[in-house]
Amino acid sequence: MQLKIYNSLTGEKEDFKPILDGNVGMYVCGPTVYSNVHLGNVRTFLSFDFIYRSLQFLGYKVRYVRNITDAGHLTDDGNIDNDRFIKQSRLEKLEPMEIVQKYTVDFHEVLKKFNLLPPTIEPTATGHIIEQIELTKKLIEKGFAYESNGSVYFDVLEYNARGLNYGELSRRNIEELFANTRDLDGQGEKKNPQDFALWKKASPQHIMRWISPWGEGFPGWHLECTAMSTKYLGDKFDIHGGGMDLKFPHHECEIAQGKACNGTEPVNYWMHANMLTMNGQRMSKSTGNYILPMELITGNNNFFEKPFHPSVLRFCFLQAHYRSVLDISNEAMLASEKGFSRLMDAVKILDEIQASDVSTVNVQEWLDKAYSALVDDFNSPILISHLFEAVKWIFLLKDGKETITAEDLALLKEKLNAFVFDVLGLQTITEETGSDKLDETLQLLIELRNQARKTKNWELSDQIRDRLLEKGIELKDGREGTSYTIN
Ligand code: AMP
Ligand code: ZN
Repeated sequence: MQLKIYNSLTGEKEDFKPILDGNVGMYVCGPTVYSNVHLGNVRTFLSFDFIYRSLQFLGYKVRYVRNITDAGHLTDDGNIDNDRFIKQSRLEKLEPMEIVQKYTVDFHEVLKKFNLLPPTIEPTATGHIIEQIELTKKLIEKGFAYESNGSVYFDVLEYNARGLNYGELSRRNIEELFANTRDLDGQGEKKNPQDFALWKKASPQHIMRWISPWGEGFPGWHLECTAMSTKYLGDKFDIHGGGMDLKFPHHECEIAQGKACNGTEPVNYWMHANMLTMNGQRMSKSTGNYILPMELITGNNNFFEKPFHPSVLRFCFLQAHYRSVLDISNEAMLASEKGFSRLMDAVKILDEIQASDVSTVNVQEWLDKAYSALVDDFNSPILISHLFEAVKWIFLLKDGKETITAEDLALLKEKLNAFVFDVLGLQTITEETGSDKLDETLQLLIELRNQARKTKNWELSDQIRDRLLEKGIELKDGREGTSYTIN
């Protein structure tokens, strides 16, 4: 079946034709590691994890590069002393590289919890300073960039004068851009406000600095992605992804840099994942409208009425197409939890089903529909709806109301398992701990909590419950006593 991908550059769903048959080069902009990732960030990375898994499932060999931005991303006020890492290091009284390390570790831990596969290459901006300096030199040599007071800027007017079209991805008109931009970050150094920094001069107090032909400084954010994507995937590669908010200026600048350097569009298919919203507003650190992954898992937040397992969030996210906005809510999570457990129950029951001489269900037709959804721009909600068709049969097969041959049963099992575990990346929730010692310890804590409740020591009993919840262990009081689940 022909895979179709919606290409943000053309605004159309196109047949996917990789540069090298059977292989895919995919670059996705990674996190800026100066703070904890929130659920919104997780959604974008999860969307691309699903795409990566799907491409592999469809038989492609994928080189998946996702970078770590650990230098060069300025704050929105454009003040170079307000480099995000330096600002955060002052706040936390840590070295900038300690900030980088702390939040890189957090990022990896979070993605592991949600069962994201690691990329095949994960380069860092600070590990590619030489490549960025080389690119800057090349852009100056070709007349697309100029030095000004120890910084180097990309000359947008010159780029356009040569017939290259700045604004092609975001479909922005250059005159409009010129009229609407204020010169925040060049402080009079730039020829035009739209010119963007390839290299920035470091002020005396700026700690993250490297030696360059233009003096000590640090690279611009857009340049790092051009340097790392082309280094590992070539001057032209198949897929470039990121959140919708990165289209402009970040990806627009990457296209300009690539075309100016190599005379070719750097990317064949631009893919943009849509935003996660909460209360109708985009989830974002700066507005305070966000939930951290651990707050969802432990239930330690004022938004959800209970804790949720990471697989339930995964399932919830994948019930929306990656290009649609998704508004997270308690109701949506509760509904996802229900759907998720029904799906998982069906997968379990499938092992108990006996084969018959005839099939009253059409497995091949079902499979074709599931594949069609996947190849139609990775349509996860439609794919899931087809999986639920199989779920319905499985319950009917169990009750003897439908029958299936051994051959069809084997195919159904193989493909349903592949869709659920490999493509959607869901994981089974194990209520048991697998460790007797842990179970004994938790029973002991439950007993101590019961004693505290008997003596009306509510403070202590609440404390035991809350502290366990912080560790992802939820106590549930029922008629038969207290049980626990580990999220
Ligand atoms: P940053 O670390 O700020 O560069 O963000 C990392 C990724 O998260 C980028 O691809 C952003 O587009 C994405 N992102 C930020 N906020 C949201 C959101 N509310 N929903 C989905 N993705 C987001
Ligand atoms: Zn990037």
